[in-house]
Amino acid sequence: MVVVLEPEATEEQIQNVIRVLHEHGFDVHRSTGVQRTVLGAIGVRPEFDHRHIAVLPGVAEVIRITDPYKLASRAFKREGSVYTVGDIEIGGKAVVAIAGPCSVESEEQIFTIAERVARSGVKILRGGAYKPRTSPYSFQGLGIEGLKLLRRAADEFGLKVITEVMDRSQIAEVEEYADILQVGARNMQNYIFLKELGKASKPVMLKRGLSATIDEWLMAAEYILSSGNQQVILCERGIRTFETATRNTFDVGAIPVVKKKSHLPIFADPSHAVGIRDKVIPVARAAIAAGADGIMVEVHHDPDHALSDGPQSLYPDQFDTLMKEIRLIAEAIGRTLA
Ligand code: PEP
Ligand code: MN
Repeated sequence: MVVVLEPEATEEQIQNVIRVLHEHGFDVHRSTGVQRTVLGAIGVRPEFDHRHIAVLPGVAEVIRITDPYKLASRAFKREGSVYTVGDIEIGGKAVVAIAGPCSVESEEQIFTIAERVARSGVKILRGGAYKPRTSPYSFQGLGIEGLKLLRRAADEFGLKVITEVMDRSQIAEVEEYADILQVGARNMQNYIFLKELGKASKPVMLKRGLSATIDEWLMAAEYILSSGNQQVILCERGIRTFETATRNTFDVGAIPVVKKKSHLPIFADPSHAVGIRDKVIPVARAAIAAGADGIMVEVHHDPDHALSDGPQSLYPDQFDTLMKEIRLIAEAIGRTLA
């Protein structure tokens, strides 16, 4: 942490700042310039609230130089993390495609879509059985029946399963049927839930919160990691901004930023990011080009009658074309498509 003093700070104020830093366990390195004094506070205190210093008389600015998270950081682990789900590597050289409907709706629906996305080369099937809907009157998912259908459809076509778990009470049940547990954007800061997921034995995909900064997102990942589960996958799914032309604003820059700050694999969900079918494809391409380890895309064979998110779901043929493009983009940046 670097503390920059006001040009007119008195020696008494500077001594007071030094005293408070010492009280909080920091070593202090002072450098006195012509205009200002700058204090370097040395000590690993990731949890330290820098406002304790910012409020002191004579202080102009406090600059944090170490990240507040540890286990999620690149400094802690230099190599990118790679997890295996069956024979699929997450975070390896090959980018991974996840696809499927927003919600599991029926046996016919999930088997039809699973067959189509498997044919396009997908390895992991998505589909919500427990749905976080804005309205309590909207379709809430089939629950346990949905989990069973999703598992059966995936097994039929040799796919792995990712699905959302919304609450602590559902973790054991979802773990029984899924290979990856998804934490929805709305739950990213549900810290008690995140700690419970730390005890789960399956990888957790942590979606970025609707208004979460990258640091808040990585702190949420830190909750899961520090509670014992080392297999966290991040997923950029768009954030809320002043822009209304798309459902959310896809933060493509978050991908290289996260890659630099963290060793955790990062995926992109262009479907929830833009929310409109014809814009999903270019954003999916951009995500892979920017370095995402994979994409998660909503696909439906009859989107006009989907019970949720039909307008943002790709037709299977469109998705098939996207897969071919993703392969080319991956190869152009020295990767492959799993
Ligand atoms: C989903 O992927 O089904 C979903 C609800 O996404 P998010 O939590 O990102 O809104
Ligand atoms: Mn959806």
